[in-house]
Amino acid sequence: MSGLKLGLVGLGKIARDQHLPAIAKTDGIDLVAVASRNAKGEGVANYVDLAAMLAGSPELDSIVLCQPPQARFEAAVTAITAGKHVFLEKPPGATVSEVEALIALARKQGVSLFASWHSRYAAAVAAARDWIAQTTIQRIDIAWKEDVRHWHPGQPWIWEAGGFGVFDPGINALSILTEIVPDRVSLLSANLDVPSNCAAPIGATLAMRTGSGAPVDTVFDWRQTGPQTWDIVVETEAGRLRLAEGGNRWFLGDEEQQAGAEEEYPAMYRRFVDMAGGNEIDVDLAPLQLVADAFLCGRHAATEAFHD
Ligand code: NAP
Repeated sequence: MSGLKLGLVGLGKIARDQHLPAIAKTDGIDLVAVASRNAKGEGVANYVDLAAMLAGSPELDSIVLCQPPQARFEAAVTAITAGKHVFLEKPPGATVSEVEALIALARKQGVSLFASWHSRYAAAVAAARDWIAQTTIQRIDIAWKEDVRHWHPGQPWIWEAGGFGVFDPGINALSILTEIVPDRVSLLSANLDVPSNCAAPIGATLAMRTGSGAPVDTVFDWRQTGPQTWDIVVETEAGRLRLAEGGNRWFLGDEEQQAGAEEEYPAMYRRFVDMAGGNEIDVDLAPLQLVADAFLCGRHAATEAFHD
């Protein structure tokens, strides 16, 4: 049987860094077309937008959306309505309600919808989740601190409404948190530091708790120069577990443990190929809901203007 015929929308940083190499090494899926306003894919049909791609390459049966979240919903509705399986970059949308609408539409159309959370596929996350499942969580501390000028230069969308600001990386931490905690995590309070010339925060602190009442304290900061930190520390009855480097390494006490292979995007494409076979829907809204709750009840404080 021939594989899925895939069209990619938004040929930017993540598409080039991760999607193109991952698609190339995944059995059962072939990149056939690219829709981009500014760039061209090699060895594929190229179109200026999704509508032109759907009209010009009717053989496509799946679409991956790699644009910023503000553009995701309209494109996803167009692709699902055309009967295509859809792979959404994270976050799956700019609002919870629009992603719920996509789930309903995908069900109606009988196609797959995959809300990808790449950090859940980091090398140590599954092992950490399985270890935590055998004990009781006492508290969790998350520190996601990075230099926005290094990681997100020239990305105006990230500072606009619906661009998420520091929650763009922070939602990766929340996607791991909601994967490794066996019960539901809820938000208690939040503080958001928003540069006076931007619509989205540069820093945030969140107080949350697990379903069994363990506190979860979180710091997201984009003003970190020098060493970068993507750590989750889980204190449990069986001792301390630390996930480091965005979920790629894990430690029990000071001792590093064996992790799996580092292949977040290839693993997600294997999952997408499997899902499409059964028109499955895999959309977990929990990380996006926590971000929405932080915007809903967080205290917003204006901080120094930000210039790239
Ligand atoms: P990007 O390079 O700034 O943008 C991706 C592409 O989206 C652009 O090249 C452009 O494609 C299209 N685009 C940009 N602004 C648009 C707009 N206002 N309306 C419609 N299309 C627009 O961003 P990125 O870093 O690849 O991030 C894209 C998504 O991937 C985000 O949701 C992000 O959270 C997620 N992601 C990023 C990373 C990362 O390391 N950068 C990692 C994981 C996930 P065309 O010029 O081809 O039209």
